[in-house]
Amino acid sequence: MSPTLSLENKVALVTGGSRGIGRAIALEFAARGAAVVVNYNKSPESAEEVVKQIQSAGGKAAAHQADVSDFKQAEALVKFTVETFGDLSILVNNAGITRDQLIMMMPESDWDAVINTNLKSTFNCSKAAVKHMMRKRVGRIINMASVAGQMGNPGQTNYSASKGGQIAFTKALAREVATRNITVNAIAPGFVDTEILDAMTPETLAAALKMVPLGRKGKPEEIAYAVSFLASDEAAYITGQVLGVDGGMAMM
Ligand code: NAP
Repeated sequence: MSPTLSLENKVALVTGGSRGIGRAIALEFAARGAAVVVNYNKSPESAEEVVKQIQSAGGKAAAHQADVSDFKQAEALVKFTVETFGDLSILVNNAGITRDQLIMMMPESDWDAVINTNLKSTFNCSKAAVKHMMRKRVGRIINMASVAGQMGNPGQTNYSASKGGQIAFTKALAREVATRNITVNAIAPGFVDTEILDAMTPETLAAALKMVPLGRKGKPEEIAYAVSFLASDEAAYITGQVLGVDGGMAMM
């Protein structure tokens, strides 16, 4: 029998752990026994609230501000994790933004912001984390991609490219680090009930949900369960994969 997906004695770093999906992952990891660093960029109160919730349930957590699109800040975030909890066993590259616009109207700054926040951050944090994981000869990296990176989405050339890039990055890095017992996987959520969907009009969202066989938005917790599985010892033989958690939307 499997030891029930425990994350006891693991140290996890969740980028963008202050709100939405990242918050749900941080709480789920802590409930399974991991010590968690809750990274945030602009929402210190939300990050502290997540930390308090974990600590009051008897878990270990710390918040740390870093803009993960910045190479040096990402490096410092990984250093903080190792110094605070003595290890880094699980990295979740979850931080992400949207700046939706048809290409004809999309300013260069919105392209750069989305690519840097969603994709460059994945390189920044993974590079720093892998250095530590290689030495320990064990590790888990989980990248939060999207169905947009698999199917494309009008008005989201920047976002779709960043998420497709994360998927390709996942496969390349998985091949690079497999001999060191480090697995690298991606999750591709569909529409999940968080503030990121506030950018969509109710009409666009209703139309989009028609493409979801299960006929509803996902809950952040439903993403967190899948991430927890990929982070667990039981998922040791899974690497370079993209797990759709999308109500059946993409079916690759
Ligand atoms: P959200 O509720 O808007 O939360 C975004 C999180 O990312 C926040 O914690 C935010 O922190 C953090 N963040 C943004 N820029 C950052 C930066 N430069 N450095 C560090 N942290 C940063 O979004 P969400 O829906 O939970 O999305 C989480 C991930 O899932 C994203 O990668 C998103 O693309 C992906 N995803 C979401 C959906 C969906 O439908 N919700 C679907 C597919 C994929 P601060 O508030 O502190 O800035």
